[in-house]
Amino acid sequence: MAAHNQPLNLRVFCCRHVLEEQAPITLVFSDDDFTFVCAHEHDWEMDGELRALSLGALLEIDPSIEEVLRMDIGYEAERRSINDPWVITKSADLQ
Ligand SMILES: [Zn+2]
Repeated sequence: MAAHNQPLNLRVFCCRHVLEEQAPITLVFSDDDFTFVCAHEHDWEMDGELRALSLGALLEIDPSIEEVLRMDIGYEAERRSINDPWVITKSADLQ
């Protein structure tokens, strides 16, 4: 039984490093969508910096994201490395 209620076909976003370089996910935002990014520098103006995929596909890449899928909208989760626990905080721009 999954620890979250998100459907596996939910559309989520992750940065290209996670898909192309197997970079570890270290930051997750929950707003209208879930967005998963790594610790690299990101150029959000650049096309293709974020890629859409299904939650199921992302869970195959990194099953340790399952824990943050229970976050409510307006929260974010951060971890130092994939071996550290997620720290969930309210997003600063939504107080
Ligand atoms: Zn990245």
